[in-house]
Amino acid sequence: MQNIELNIANVRSEIRAAAKKHSRAADEITLLAVSKTKPASAVKIAADAGVTQFGENYLQEAVAKIESLEGLGIDWHFIGPIQSNKTRLIAQRFAWVHSVDRSKVLRRLSDQRESDTPLNICLQVNISGEASKAGVAPDALAELVSEARELPNLRLRGLMAIPAPETGFDRQFRTCATLRSCFERVHSCHPSMDTLSIGMSADLEAAIAAGSTMVRIGTGIFGARSQ
Ligand SMILES: *Cc1c(COP(=O)(O)O)cnc(C)c1O
Repeated sequence: MQNIELNIANVRSEIRAAAKKHSRAADEITLLAVSKTKPASAVKIAADAGVTQFGENYLQEAVAKIESLEGLGIDWHFIGPIQSNKTRLIAQRFAWVHSVDRSKVLRRLSDQRESDTPLNICLQVNISGEASKAGVAPDALAELVSEARELPNLRLRGLMAIPAPETGFDRQFRTCATLRSCFERVHSCHPSMDTLSIGMSADLEAAIAAGSTMVRIGTGIFGARSQ
């Protein structure tokens, strides 16, 4: 049995320590707890411990949890691969989507958003080149940003990446800094963008050093996943 409360306290103190070390303000870094494959009861424990932002990768599983945990004030973030025929449920049930990498999906999410509040969007960037198929190529990013900004029911918040796994602070930092420089390029034209979604359990410090404003932590909070 994992001690979820203790893990959250530890992750929060790691975030504070990394922020201090790299001259960042800890309160500009949001903790997104990634609860994929974990039961609603585990999410409830984390929510009771003060976590308000949760990330899910698999739509069916996520919707079941969202329904069973209604009323807890959770903001749900979709962070998994998106099939364009599954966008409606994402547009209806989530507050954020981090994994958008093409205009067809952007347009469908905007068309299918029925809420009065816009859907928060991070565009996923492929910063590891051929190592990953997901994500928009950095040189196609500016165009996708312009498209996202024109869609009425979306609010473009920032960029997201899932770097190929690297070991060691320096290598991790260099990868995270690639996303940071993509962000700076688009941010100079679109200063309302405020989110850099990067950093997982294994590269938390490097991501914070590179400017992350949202770290996505699964294993570090809920323990290892069996699938
Ligand atoms: C699973 C997942 C995470 C969390 O990874 P951990 O290494 O368990 O912290 C973060 N982001 C995305 C997109 C994921 O799929």
